[in-house]
Amino acid sequence: MQQEYFVDVILPIPIEKQFTYRISEREYGFIRPGMRIAVPFGKSRIYTALACKLHQNAPEIYEAKEIHQILDEAPIVTEKQLQLWFWIASYYMCAPGEVFRAAVPGALLIESETIVLRNEEFSASETTLKDDEWLIYEALQHQPILKVTEISAILDKKNVLPVLKRLLEKDVIRVKEEIHEQYRPKLVRFVRVAPAYDSEEALRELLDTLGRAQKQKEVLMGLFSISASTKKPVKLKELQEKTGASAAVIKTLLDKKILEDYHIRTDRVEYSGNPVNETRELNEFQAKALSEIKEHFESGDVTLLYGITSSGKTEIYVKLIEEVLARGKQVLYLLPEIALTSQLIHRLQNYFGEQVSVYHSKYSNNERVEVWNNLLRNSPKTRIVLGARSSVFLPFSDLGLVIVDEEHEASFKQFDPAPRYHARDVAVVLAHMYGARVLLGSATPSVESSYNAKTGKYGLVGLTRRYGNVLLPEMELVDIKDKRKKKRMKGHFSDRLMEEIRDSLAEDEQVILFQNRRGYAPVMECNTCGHSPQCPSCDVSLTYHQTRKQLRCHYCGYHIALPLSCMACGSSELETKGFGTEQVEEELRSLFPDARTGRMDSDTTRGKYGYEKIITAFEQQEIDILVGTQMLTKGLDFRNVSLVGIMNADSLLNYPDFRAFERSFQLILQVAGRAGRTEKRGRVIIQTYNPYHQILQQASMNKYGDMFTDQLNDRKQFCYPPFYRLIKISLRHKNYNTVQEGSVWYAGALQNYFGAAGWKKEYILGPESPSVGRIRNHYIKDILIKIPQGQNLRAVKEGILRIHKSFGAIATYRSVRVAFDVDTY
Ligand code: ADP
Ligand code: ZN
Ligand code: ZN
Repeated sequence: MQQEYFVDVILPIPIEKQFTYRISEREYGFIRPGMRIAVPFGKSRIYTALACKLHQNAPEIYEAKEIHQILDEAPIVTEKQLQLWFWIASYYMCAPGEVFRAAVPGALLIESETIVLRNEEFSASETTLKDDEWLIYEALQHQPILKVTEISAILDKKNVLPVLKRLLEKDVIRVKEEIHEQYRPKLVRFVRVAPAYDSEEALRELLDTLGRAQKQKEVLMGLFSISASTKKPVKLKELQEKTGASAAVIKTLLDKKILEDYHIRTDRVEYSGNPVNETRELNEFQAKALSEIKEHFESGDVTLLYGITSSGKTEIYVKLIEEVLARGKQVLYLLPEIALTSQLIHRLQNYFGEQVSVYHSKYSNNERVEVWNNLLRNSPKTRIVLGARSSVFLPFSDLGLVIVDEEHEASFKQFDPAPRYHARDVAVVLAHMYGARVLLGSATPSVESSYNAKTGKYGLVGLTRRYGNVLLPEMELVDIKDKRKKKRMKGHFSDRLMEEIRDSLAEDEQVILFQNRRGYAPVMECNTCGHSPQCPSCDVSLTYHQTRKQLRCHYCGYHIALPLSCMACGSSELETKGFGTEQVEEELRSLFPDARTGRMDSDTTRGKYGYEKIITAFEQQEIDILVGTQMLTKGLDFRNVSLVGIMNADSLLNYPDFRAFERSFQLILQVAGRAGRTEKRGRVIIQTYNPYHQILQQASMNKYGDMFTDQLNDRKQFCYPPFYRLIKISLRHKNYNTVQEGSVWYAGALQNYFGAAGWKKEYILGPESPSVGRIRNHYIKDILIKIPQGQNLRAVKEGILRIHKSFGAIATYRSVRVAFDVDTY
C-alpha cells in the first residue's frame, strides 16, 4: 500500500479538535511541530495554522484536505510553549486554538480577514521586491487598506500568505491592530553655567567682570543656589521664576556664553543627576529579605515577598535578576499592563541596558514580533522581558526567574475572550517547566497567595520598613455623613480635606485625589445615609435621567419616577448628581482656582503614550493636584506628593463580589502608598459615610494580618477560594427562553451528576442572570460551581465536559454559546 502522510494542526479558532491535513512525503520530512502552515478551512477561508504532530494515519471521519503552503523554515513556537498552551487549554477549559490566537502577535497570524496597510516609512529600494510583492506594493500606493481576500484577487491566487509574510519581513506592509501614534516627547529647556567657568577661580573672575551688571549676577547666584539645593538639572523656567529675572537678562547671559541651554526629553530625566549603571546597595532589611528569598528558592519554586509600599522591592528584584543573568538565564518580569510605565522601564534599562525588552499590548505588532523572534534566537536583547500578562506565552528558552510584581492585581486575569487565564498562576506553571523560580511581590498580597504562604506551599518573606525609614503615611478617616450634617462640606470636599490640600499647596507639594468612578456617573445618592437606589433585578445603581426625571437601570430597562425622599432613611436631601473624576476636577477648579489640576482615567489616557504624558507632567510638577481612578494605584514613584485624598471609600465597598473587601483594602493602601515617599511623612484623608467599617479601620491602620484573618474566615464560611475553587459557566443566546430553559437543564444535570458524588446542593449556584444580563441582545445565564477541597479537579472538569456534551446534543440548545471560566476571580 502506498504511504500516506499527515499533519495535525491547531487552527486559531474555538474548536476543540485539531484538524488533519494531507502532506507530501517531502513536506513530511520538512515540517516540524511549531511551524506555521497556511491551510484551507470551510468553504473559502484560509488560516494560519500551527503544525502540531506528524503521522501517517488518515482521519476516519473526513477526507483530509491538502495544505496550501508551509510558511516557516523553522518552528516559531517551541515544544515547551505548545506544552504550556495545551496545559492552559485543558486547565481553563478552552480550545488550544483560542490559546494559540491569544498567544501569537497578530502579524504572525494572517488570515483572510486580516487588513493590510502600507508602511509609510518603507524606504528600501523597490528593486528588492519580487514581482508579486511589487504588485501588492503598488496596489497599496493607490488604496491604503487592503483585505487579504482582495490581495488574493489582485494576485489571482488563493494563497497569498507567503507573499505577505515576505512583505512583512521586508517591512513594506503592516497589518491591522497597530497603533501608529507618534509620541513626540516633550523637550524641556534647561540651563547651566558654561564649562569655561567650571572652576571656582574662573567663576570668581567672571563675577568680577560682570561688575555692575547686578541683575546678571543675581541670576548666576540664583542658579547656584537652586542647583545646590535640588541637585537636579535646572529648568530655564524655574530659574526665571525663582530669581524673578527677565527673559532679556537670561538671554544676555546666554548670548555672552556664560550660560548655556540644553534640552532633555522630559520622560528621560534622571533624578539622581548621575546616570547609574551599577545597581544599588541594599540596606540591611532588603539584604535580609534577599537572602531569605534565596534560601526559600533552595527548597521551593515560589516565594511571596510581602513588602509594604516603597520598601524597596524593586531593588531586590534587580539583585535577583543580576544573579540569574550571571548564570546565563532569562528573566520574565510580569506586571499589570498599566503598571508598565516608562518610569520602571527606564529604571531597569539603567541597570541592564539593552538586555531589557518590553512586551506590551500597546506596542505595535512589529515591535511584538521583534521580541518574539529575539527570544526564539535567544538574543542578548531579551535576557529580561518586562511584560504584561500575555508575555507568559512567549518563546523562552532558558528561563531562570519569573517575577510577578503587584501579584494581587485583578488585571492579571483575562476575562474575555478565552483563554480566561490568570497570568500569575500560569507563570507558576511556566516556571516549573523550566525549573525556574517565581517571586510574587506585593504590598497587599492577594488572600490566596497569602494563604499559600501560610500553609507552606509558598515561601514567605516580609519587608515591613520603607526604604530610608520613611514613615508610612498617616491615615485619617473623615466622616462625611457627620460633615454634611454640620455643613462642613463643599461639594464633595470635607473641610479636613480642603485644609490639607491648602497646606500641601502652600508647601509646594503635590496632591493626589482618588475617585473610583470615571466621568460623570449620574446616580442618586442620599446626603444623609449614603444610600443610592438600586435596580431590583440587577446589581447596579439606577442612573439619573434628567430629561425624563427618572431613575433607570442601564442593563434591564427598569425605571421609576424620581423619588422625593431617600428610600432607606426618608431624608429629603438627595443629590441627583453622581460624581466621578470629572466632577472632582471641576469642583477643584472652583475651590482652588490657582492650583493646576490634571486628571488621569481611561478617558484621558488613551493611546500608547496617553498615560505617560500625564505622569510626566505630574513628575515635572506641572500639575499640582492629580485626580484619578484605579490607575493611580499602580506602582508609581512620585517624589513630591505629600497628600492623598480618597474622595469616597464607600464606592469601593459596595461591589457585589466576594473580594470587594479585600480589593478595597488593597486599593486604599496602594493609593495611600503614593504619599510621602521621601523624608517627610505623607498624609492620607479617607472620606467615608462609614468610618467604623471594619475594612476601612483595618486599611487605615495598615492591619494586613487582621484583614487576612477576617477574610479567610468569611471565605471558609461562605465557600469561596482559597477553600473552594470556582468555575463559572456562562450560557448566552438571543432567545431568552432558550437560554433560560437551557441553563436550568444544565444546572440540573450538574446537580444530578455531582449530587451523586455526595456534593451539597449549594455547591452549584444558579442559573442566575449576571449583573449585566444581556449584552448585544444576547441573554446571559451564569452557573457557579464551587468545588470543595479534596476533589480531583481534573475529574470534576471531565464531569462538566460530559454534561456539556450531552447539552450540545440536544437540538434546541445547540445554538446556545457556553463559556467556561475557571478560577473566576
Ligand atoms: P517598592 O517597589 O517596594 O514600592 P521601590 O523599589 O520603588 O519600592 O523603592 C522606593 C524608593 O526607594 C525608590 O525611589 C528607590 O529608588 C529607593 N530605594 C530603594 N532601595 C534603595 C537602595 N537600596 N538604595 C537607594 N535607594 C533605594
Ligand atoms: Zn436592571
Ligand atoms: Zn438616606
